[in-house]
Amino acid sequence: MSNPHIVVVRGDGIGPEITGAVLKILHANQTPIEYTELEIGERAYLKGYPTGIPPDTWEIIRAHRVMLKGPITTPQGGGYKSVNVTLRKSLGLYANVRQCRAFAPYVTSLHPTMDVVILRENEEDLYAGIEYRQSQQVVLGLKVVTRPGTESIIRYAFEYARAYGRKKLTCMTKDNIMKMTDGLFHRVFEEVAQEYPDLKTDHMIIDIGAARLAAQPEMLDMIVTLNLYGDILSDIAAQVAGSIGLAGSANVGNDAAMFEAVHGSAPDIADRDIANPSGLLNAAIQMLVHIGLSDDARRIQNAWLKTLEDGIHTLDMYREGISARLVGTRGFADAIIERLGQQPDQLESITYRAGGIHIKPRPLKPQKQALVGADIFLVWDELDRDPQILGKKLDSLDTGPLKFQLMTNRGVKVYPDEGGESVRADMWRCRYLGDEIKYDDILRLLAQINQAGIQVNQVQNLYTFDGERGYSLGQGE
Ligand code: NAD
Repeated sequence: MSNPHIVVVRGDGIGPEITGAVLKILHANQTPIEYTELEIGERAYLKGYPTGIPPDTWEIIRAHRVMLKGPITTPQGGGYKSVNVTLRKSLGLYANVRQCRAFAPYVTSLHPTMDVVILRENEEDLYAGIEYRQSQQVVLGLKVVTRPGTESIIRYAFEYARAYGRKKLTCMTKDNIMKMTDGLFHRVFEEVAQEYPDLKTDHMIIDIGAARLAAQPEMLDMIVTLNLYGDILSDIAAQVAGSIGLAGSANVGNDAAMFEAVHGSAPDIADRDIANPSGLLNAAIQMLVHIGLSDDARRIQNAWLKTLEDGIHTLDMYREGISARLVGTRGFADAIIERLGQQPDQLESITYRAGGIHIKPRPLKPQKQALVGADIFLVWDELDRDPQILGKKLDSLDTGPLKFQLMTNRGVKVYPDEGGESVRADMWRCRYLGDEIKYDDILRLLAQINQAGIQVNQVQNLYTFDGERGYSLGQGE
C-alpha cells in the first residue's frame, strides 16, 4: 500500500522556520508519508489572489484532503480574505479541536494541572463574513447560526468526549443576550446531551466562562462553543497553560482535515531562529493519528515530552532555575530528534485516537412557517433625527393589513414613545405586524414608503414557526 500523501504549506512569518523544524523531525523519524508543498498565503495575496489561495492549488488540496499548515499572515484591510476561513469553509472543516494542557513543572504554568479541550464551531457565526455598510453612519455584520452547523459541532463534541474518555462537556454561549442565535446553540446542546447520559454537561455564559478558564481552568474538562468565542477562549487557554507556542489545532470535517498551530505567524520574531515549533509539531502529531500513523505519533510525542523534561527550551518556555538549556527553533528540533525512541519520565503522553468521527445532523420535523410582518430598515438623516417626525410621516401611510408597531434606533425603541437619552444614528428599524398577511402586502408597503421619499435599504421578513415567534423583541417593545 502506498504511503499517505498530504499537502504541506510552510506559511508566513515564523511559518517556514517552524514547518522546516517539524518536517525535519518527521524525516528523522522515517515517518512513512509523502507530501506536496503548496504556496498559499502572503505571497499568493501579493500576486493578486484575494483569498491567498491560487486557483490551481485547489485540485491538489481536494485530491489529498489532509493539510499541515504553517501560520499565515492576513494582510490588513483591502478586501483580502483569510486563508484559514476560506479553507475551513471550502473543505467543510466544521470542527476545530484545541487541546490546551500544562506541562508543569517543566514548563512554568499558572495552572499546573490544567488540561482542557476546546471544540469550536468553525464555519459560521460572525465568521460568515457577511457585512454591509448601510448608511453614512451604520455598518452591519450578520451572525449566522444554523441548526445543521450547530448540531454537527455539538455531536462531534459529545463523540469526541466519549472517544477520549473525557468526563464533562461545558457549553458556553451568550444566550441571555442573543436569544435566537446563541439560544439555538444552547438548545441543540441540551437536546443532544439527552443522548449521552454517561457524560456530565453544563452551560456557562461566555463571559464568566472565560473568566473561569483564565482563573480556574482545572474546573473545566471540555468546552464546546461558537466560532468567535472559541477563537478567543483557545488563545486564553493556550497562554495560561504555559505558552501560546505549545498548542496544536485540528480542523476536521467529514472528508478533509487541516492541522496547524494555535498561534499566528508572529512577524515580530520571524527569521530569528527563536520561535517554538511545538504548536505545529503537536498539530502534526494529531495529523499522524488522523491518517492512521498512531505509532509514529506516539514516538514523536514521547521524544518531544522528554525534551521538555530535560529542560531544553525555546525562549518562550525558558525560565532560569527550571530550564537547563536555551535553544533556538533548529536546536529544539535537533534535541527532539536525538530523543526519538526515548520515553518521558513524568509527563504522560496524550493518547490520540484515530479520527473516524463522522457526524450527520438528524432530519428535522417540518414546522409551519407563517409570515407575520416585516422589519423595514430606513435611512433618514433629517431634522435632527427627531423620531417623532419620521414616525408621524410613517403613521400617515396606508399600510393595508400591516400595523406599524414601533421604530427602534440601534435596537432601542424611539417611537411611538421616546426611549431614553441614547445617541441616534441615521438608520431606523420600523416593525410592521399583521394577521394572515401576504408578501404582496409588504411590497405594497415598501412602495408607499418609497413614494413618500424615504430610503428603504433593508427588509427582514418576520415569521412564526408552529406559532412560536421567530424574531427578537426590540428593546422596550
Ligand atoms: P501571533 O500568534 O502571531 O503572535 C502573538 C504573540 O505570540 C507574539 O508576541 C509572538 O511573538 C508570540 N508567538 C506566537 N507564536 C509563537 C511561537 N511559536 N513561539 C514563540 N512565540 C510565539 O498573533 P498576532 O501577532 O496577532 O498575528 C500575527 C499574524 O498571524 C496576523 O497576520 C494574523 O492574521 C496571523 N494569524 C494567523 C493564524 C493562522 O494562520 N492560523 C492564526 C492567528 C493569527
